[in-house]
Amino acid sequence: MRLQTATLLTLLMIAAAGGCASTPAARPAAAPSSEAPVGTTAELENAYTRHRVAGLDARRFLPEDYWEVTARLLADDTDRFRIEQIGSSVERRPLRRVDFGDGDISVLLWSQMHGDESTASRALLDVFDYLLRNPDDPRVRGIESALAVTFVPVLNPDGAARFVRHNAVGIDLNRDARALATPEGRALKAVRDDVDADWGFNLHDQNIRTRRGSGDEGVQISLLAPPPGDGTTNEANENAKQLAALIVHALRPVVGESIARYSETFNPRAFGDLMTQWGTATVLIESGGALDDPGKELPRRANFVAVLSALDAIATGAWRRYPQDAYAELPPNGRAVNDLLIFGAEIVLPGGQPVRADVAVHYADSLDRSGGVVAEVGDLEGAEALQTIDADGLYLVLRFDGDRERMPALLPGDTLDGVLSRDRDGRQVVWRLDAGRPIRVGSR
Ligand SMILES: [Zn+2]
Repeated sequence: MRLQTATLLTLLMIAAAGGCASTPAARPAAAPSSEAPVGTTAELENAYTRHRVAGLDARRFLPEDYWEVTARLLADDTDRFRIEQIGSSVERRPLRRVDFGDGDISVLLWSQMHGDESTASRALLDVFDYLLRNPDDPRVRGIESALAVTFVPVLNPDGAARFVRHNAVGIDLNRDARALATPEGRALKAVRDDVDADWGFNLHDQNIRTRRGSGDEGVQISLLAPPPGDGTTNEANENAKQLAALIVHALRPVVGESIARYSETFNPRAFGDLMTQWGTATVLIESGGALDDPGKELPRRANFVAVLSALDAIATGAWRRYPQDAYAELPPNGRAVNDLLIFGAEIVLPGGQPVRADVAVHYADSLDRSGGVVAEVGDLEGAEALQTIDADGLYLVLRFDGDRERMPALLPGDTLDGVLSRDRDGRQVVWRLDAGRPIRVGSR
């Protein structure tokens, strides 16, 4: 079935609206529950609107700007927040930790080890603001007295500066937990060992093309309690599953059913897996999203609620009351749909004869829709995409600058530059395709 954008967005909006409108309720009583901590979530959602830190609204920002905003914010209370450099990246950008609380239970959160996955980094700023401005709030006092929380935001500043996944020498930091070849990976491991982290939060973003289970809906958040070995578990892992179940309950009012479970396959090079092996009860939080939310505001809000709910539950011990079911029963991350499908155009190459075919496009970045390349051409009936263009009766005319050495083609991996037009010469343009990004410029 073709997944129309409108349908997808409607589903997500219904899910979100249903969550926001959920009935207020008291915080969960002592009894274990499969009930959501709705009261807590509603309070946190309200608080979010007051504590969302302005200034880093886009997904892409320089690490220097991140730390400038953070330093300015935390300068208001240097007694309770301590910022310390823990190393430097390959390109010698500073790596820093932020410490809060002086309790006995140590919690380590790190974000953006993949440089183009910034949602949680921004949410951690909002968390800082909440903890900073509410020193007398019982929840904040509880976190501060029971926990020693260490945040390591923007662990991959070189990647963040370029908004790419890898670090400056092309290493995926989340495949460096075993080798520890990178200064960034070593800094994270050293902090873990320094605080002897009881709990860990591994904060990432995932592609918005991923579907939830076998359904058509997208994913706003996926969770994982990564295993410590192939098909094995340990006490830290079991605890993390309970905490993940609590996070599911906390997030339902925020993102509805748009929560999935990340792949549980053990990876001996990944930090989450090895953290668990090292005895740190680790939860992976992946921020997905949707096309109509280019700044990832909804998953940012969800991260705020998830992190504060989890810190609160660790401080009070409430996580122990949550059976693993809500986590274990999450549908897994499912298939990834295409970014764009163009159905039924007559494809025209310079001097060539037209061929009627469908075209699937994948972007390097599904949200800002940049770097679009051809994924597949041909009979794509039944394929799915975040956006579909019915090009029946239109011509797909590729851009050609006249250089015979660089004749355009439509091979897998080629950049898609051209127009969809009513005529085969590409003059009566209906859609422009700029590196695969469709811009409507005319009517049919
Ligand atoms: Zn990642």
